[in-house]
Amino acid sequence: MTTTLDQLRRLSPILEPGQDGFADYLNDRSVWTAPAAPLAVALPESTAQVAALVTWCAEHKVPVIPRGTGTGVSGGSTARAGSIVLSVERMDQILQIDPAARQVRVQPGLINADLRRAVEPMGLFYPPDPASMAESSIGGNIATNAGGLFCLKYGVTRDYVISLEVVIGTGEVLRLRRPVPKDVMGYDLASLIVGSEGTLGVVTEATLRLIPLPSDPVATVMGRFDAMEPVGRAIEDLFRAGLDPIALEFVDPVFMDAVARYNQEPPNRARTSVLIAQIAMTHPLDDPANQGRATEAVFRQAGARTVEWSASAAEADRLMADRRLCFTALSAEGPTVSEDVSVPRTELGRLLVAIERVAAQHDLVIATMGHAGDGNLHPCIPIPPGPDGDARAQAAFDAIMAEALALGGSVTGEHGVGLLKAEAMSQALGLTQMVLHRSIKQAFDPAGILNPGKVLL
Ligand SMILES: Cc1cc2nc3c(=O)[nH]c(=O)nc-3n(C[C@H](O)[C@H](O)[C@H](O)COP(=O)(O)OP(=O)(O)OC[C@H]3O[C@@H](n4cnc5c(N)ncnc54)[C@H](O)[C@@H]3O)c2cc1C
Repeated sequence: MTTTLDQLRRLSPILEPGQDGFADYLNDRSVWTAPAAPLAVALPESTAQVAALVTWCAEHKVPVIPRGTGTGVSGGSTARAGSIVLSVERMDQILQIDPAARQVRVQPGLINADLRRAVEPMGLFYPPDPASMAESSIGGNIATNAGGLFCLKYGVTRDYVISLEVVIGTGEVLRLRRPVPKDVMGYDLASLIVGSEGTLGVVTEATLRLIPLPSDPVATVMGRFDAMEPVGRAIEDLFRAGLDPIALEFVDPVFMDAVARYNQEPPNRARTSVLIAQIAMTHPLDDPANQGRATEAVFRQAGARTVEWSASAAEADRLMADRRLCFTALSAEGPTVSEDVSVPRTELGRLLVAIERVAAQHDLVIATMGHAGDGNLHPCIPIPPGPDGDARAQAAFDAIMAEALALGGSVTGEHGVGLLKAEAMSQALGLTQMVLHRSIKQAFDPAGILNPGKVLL
């Protein structure tokens, strides 16, 4: 008698329960998500194998959990009982780089940073740069529409997706959009896949846009602030003054200290928050010193305690590397839940003040950092010890989403809905939009097997 595992083994390489490494595929980096045992972990090596697996799952009504490298923080790739975890990690090749078209064709398991490294010697650049870029996959980045530090200037993953090959819930392989810069044939189905968190299809190939490699940032300005209101003023005034930073990042003193401890450096004694603005030449006749000085003046006028700036690319890289380390450094010290809310840039100061209020109300330490120029913050809550630690952290997590919505923002700017925010999303979008979501899901995945329970309740 052929068992389920025998059948799956004929379709693709698999890992069975109990095999070495099996447990590594059951969850992402989220807290509060409890994976349940899948039937198997499938490790397909081609689109044909992905299509065969999804077809089999549709016939047998077995849930499929698409997975990149599991760096998500919202439970998007958390396994559920009786499912197949479908990891595309073995499909990690660059298929073609076309410098004339400024396009690259890749498989979904390719790591973001490997793509950057491969195109840079050709003078080309793939801009989306999640802080997880050394570990996260292009397929995962597409499925979450990942953003990053330099997305203020260059845009998010969506802005670089030209065409996608996708296996939808029936097992059919579709090519969405042609690999041409302009294509308006029909509804933009490729855009629906971007950010769909594995609920509409499995991305098996992507053609991505590249841009010419920009020159290094020429000035990095760092303002230190004692309070949150002046941070909000500085952000607004910077754009009002016509300045055009390529990155504008915020880090609070709790994170500064966690990174210092992680790097085994002395703590930030001044307990100040930091705004880091990176300026690039936008015109050959620009004088970067002028932009640096203008940014410094805005920060001082807004109430910065100190402002330093540097024209050294090495210093800029060091500051941004520390910024990318924030979540890793804090979560190395204990379980930490990462929020991800976004508000209009002009409301960022109010959101920062609200986060301080929420921390006080729930007697919690909340560490906040994020992409200030995009109005996208990551308040992170180390879960306190004690029997009510999770409940207090959860209450603060929910309260921050409510504050963001009240300021005209969203419950997630880039980390996605996954399991953790499905309830909040459905309340924020309301009945009619949720019905539209359901209809779209039904059209792509009539058997309802693709990542069920994620994004849509
Ligand atoms: C330290 C750290 C820093 C981070 N910084 C950022 C940041 O700056 N910006 C940001 O946006 N995010 C950030 N993240 C979150 C995470 O890295 C991103 O969401 C990333 O895009 C996930 O990619 P992944 O390959 O790990 O996907 P996974 O975690 O494996 O999956 C994420 C979602 O995508 C789906 N999926 C994965 N691959 C496919 C596929 N081929 N087809 C269809 N669906 C698929 C999964 O089902 C799941 O819903 C960070 C995470 C960590 C741990």
